[in-house]
Amino acid sequence: MSITALGSSAPGSTGARRGPVPGPPAPAPASSTTAATLLLNATYEPLCVVSSRRAIVLVLAAKAEAVDVTDDEVHAERVTVAVPVVVRLTRYVRVPYPVQVPLSRRAVFTRDGSTCVYCGGSATSIDHVVPRSRGGTHTWDNVVAACRRCNHTKADRSLAEMGWSLPHPPGAPSGAAWRLLGHRTVDPRWHEWLGMPDSVSA
Ligand SMILES: [Zn+2]
Repeated sequence: MSITALGSSAPGSTGARRGPVPGPPAPAPASSTTAATLLLNATYEPLCVVSSRRAIVLVLAAKAEAVDVTDDEVHAERVTVAVPVVVRLTRYVRVPYPVQVPLSRRAVFTRDGSTCVYCGGSATSIDHVVPRSRGGTHTWDNVVAACRRCNHTKADRSLAEMGWSLPHPPGAPSGAAWRLLGHRTVDPRWHEWLGMPDSVSA
């Protein structure tokens, strides 16, 4: 999608309009499904997820423009604003990203498809491939999703001792979508901006 096509989303065309009734300065979206907004850089690169309230403040301050909005509206500062699903910063911000995606239980489960890497069953725990008691590190290349049974069976032994193997070497994930995994849910309407297939959030 070209910048030109998206550039038509000027602030005046994105839902902000004059309303007859002055409202409270702090808008509060009523629907919990619209409580989060994907924030894009001026380059349309996904940056992070912010509260819809924060996104509306950015739009009202002309620091961001709505790219996609919901049917919900909030009254704020004498204007009625459509609650945004996706907003884009009007000015580019340079953001230093962590070199690696933070390691978390949730992120490991997502990387491994919530499947035990040893038996293919449903993963319920995190296993250190080289046990921590034997110097294994808590790093992306040494943690995998595992079912409780495999984890318990393996205990403090190495894969060689067990005669087990991994389908592929574990590693740190990368990509825009991973920066947002810390958020509890990924709105399907964000997918096109995240380069995610619809199945990822399931
Ligand atoms: Zn297993």
